[in-house]
Amino acid sequence: MNSKVRKTLRSIRKHSVPKLFDTITHVQTIHPVVALTFDDGPHPYYTPLLLNLLAQYRINATFFMVGEGAEKHKAVVQQVREAGHVIGNHSWSHPSFIEIDRRQRWDEVRRAELALNLNGARLFRPPHGHQNFTSRLDLFWLRYEVIGWNVTAQDWLVQTPTEMANRLIEKVRPGCIVLLHDAIYKSRLAKPQFNREPMLEALDMALNQLTQQFNFVTVPSLLTYGRPAYTYWKRLS
Ligand SMILES: [Zn+2]
Repeated sequence: MNSKVRKTLRSIRKHSVPKLFDTITHVQTIHPVVALTFDDGPHPYYTPLLLNLLAQYRINATFFMVGEGAEKHKAVVQQVREAGHVIGNHSWSHPSFIEIDRRQRWDEVRRAELALNLNGARLFRPPHGHQNFTSRLDLFWLRYEVIGWNVTAQDWLVQTPTEMANRLIEKVRPGCIVLLHDAIYKSRLAKPQFNREPMLEALDMALNQLTQQFNFVTVPSLLTYGRPAYTYWKRLS
């Protein structure tokens, strides 16, 4: 490939492809706004506890729910929606989208969409953060915006609330998208932390400090504060 062709391809990728195929990880802004996102719920016990905590701080967040769980716990989904939070699609049964075929991917997304009764923002988060070019393309055809993250507390590992809270306090910046879990659904880890109480305690500790500096908003609201920063379609971690 000669350098002119390469330059043109680079320019096409830079200016048009990202909007179609890339994944939003955060927003470039000077405003002190941050979006909390919670994956893998709804959980009949932990999600209501989280809703109480968010209500105490008068915060709205984004919940990337698994369709299978949503079908089982419809009342919890309703509670989340009625509290003013945004619901996004995290697939029907949480498979890795790079290990299933196209027909299965479409089925996973559409079944979850029906179970979650999505009306409004069409946001998707890939299970396990796994994606490749073809899975990303499917989400484009299914008219979803793929939302990644740029801060985690690693709340799927066994650690103390203080360790997780400190991680959040140190990393949060204007425009961040924070990944947390109100449930752990079909984890591939040897010893996942299914108990969500340490995460809830850590979140309380972190919010106690962070709400003095930052406003916590939903992902659609965060996107109104600045230009989204994208990463290429690759695996998120
Ligand atoms: Zn997940």
